[in-house]
Amino acid sequence: MMITEKLRLDKGSYEESINRAADIIKNGGIVAIPTETVYGLAASCYCDGAIKKVFEAKGRPQDNPLIVHISDIKQLSEIACDIPSLAFECAEKFWPGPFTMVLKRTDKIAKSVSGGLDTVAVRMPDNQVARDIIAKSCPLAAPSANLSGHPSPTTADHVIYDLDGKIDGVVISSDCEVGVESTVISLCGDKPRLLRPGGITVEQLKEVLPDIVVDKAVLSEPQKDEKVASPGMKYKHYAPDTDTYLVEGTAEQFAEFVNSQKDCCAVCFDEESGIINIKKLSYGSIADESSLARNVFSVLRKVDKLGVKKIYIHAPSKSGVGLAVYNRLIRAAAFRVISL
Ligand code: AMP
Ligand code: MG
Repeated sequence: MMITEKLRLDKGSYEESINRAADIIKNGGIVAIPTETVYGLAASCYCDGAIKKVFEAKGRPQDNPLIVHISDIKQLSEIACDIPSLAFECAEKFWPGPFTMVLKRTDKIAKSVSGGLDTVAVRMPDNQVARDIIAKSCPLAAPSANLSGHPSPTTADHVIYDLDGKIDGVVISSDCEVGVESTVISLCGDKPRLLRPGGITVEQLKEVLPDIVVDKAVLSEPQKDEKVASPGMKYKHYAPDTDTYLVEGTAEQFAEFVNSQKDCCAVCFDEESGIINIKKLSYGSIADESSLARNVFSVLRKVDKLGVKKIYIHAPSKSGVGLAVYNRLIRAAAFRVISL
C-alpha cells in the first residue's frame, strides 16, 4: 500500500495542487483527475512504466487500450499521424468535449497505450482542471479511475473507494457533469464507425459524419473469441456485485413486474417512483436523458450496498444520450434483458 495524496482545489490551493499533480505525472507517477465525463486515472502517454502502473492499479486487461487526453490541438500531431481532414472537422465541432477519435498512432507514445494496436484514441476534455494539468505536464493516457469491471467513478469519493492506497494522488474536484464516458469513433476504416456511444449523440455525429456506421458491439454481446473493433466492449463492465437485470416496458408494466418480485430493488425513473411499492432508487427523469447519464453510475454503486438479491433496472430509450446509458446498463446486466 502507498499513501494516496489528496489534492484539494480550495481557494488558495488550486495552483499548488495542479502543479503537484503535474509533477507526480512528470516523474512517472499516476494521478486520478476530474473530467466532464468520469474521473480518469492519468499517466504520461510517453512513459511506459507509468502506464503499466495504471493497468496494474485498475486490474485492467493489457489488451484494452487507453485514451490519450490533450489540452491543445497542436498536441495532436505528437500522438497521431496520417490524420484525415474529417478528424479536424470533428475536432472543430466536438472538442473540447466528450468525444474520442481513433486514429493511426505515432511512435512517440508508449507502446502500452495502444494495447498492441497500431491506432490510438485521442480526446480533448472539456474540464479546466484536466486541461490545466495536461498543459503543465504532457498529454495524458487516462482510462476511467475505477477498478476494472466496477461502475465508472463520477465523484472523487468513488475514486477513493476503489483506488485509495493504489495510486499516487487524486485531485478532489466536483462531480462529473456528463456522467458516462466519451463517445468513441474510429476514423481508421473505410467508413467512420461508432465504437462506443457517449455524451456526443449519434444524431450530433451525423451532422459531420452522415455515413457513420454503428458497430454491432454497441448493443449486442460479442461472441466468444470474436475480434471486436474496440477491445473495451468485450469485457464485463460497470457491474454491481448483485444479480442485475435490465427491464424493458412502460412505466405501468415495470411497476407491476417489480411490485410482484421479492428481495429485490428497482432502479426507476422519477416519474414512476410513486407507483413502485418495493425498495427503489431513481436515476433521473425519463424526459431528460442527460440526468440518467449523470446519475447512472452512482446509483449502480448505491444499489449494490442495499443487500438485496436482485436489481431490476428500467431501461431508458436508445435515442440521444439514452443510447450511451443503455449501452452501459446492458453490460452492467451482463446482457440479461427482460422485455415485458
Ligand atoms: P476507458 O478509458 O476506460 O473509458 O476505456 C477506453 C475505451 O476506448 C475502451 O472501450 C477502449 O477499448 C477504447 N479504445 C481505446 N483505444 C482504442 C483504439 N486504439 N482502438 C479502438 N478502441 C480503443
Ligand atoms: Mg473504463
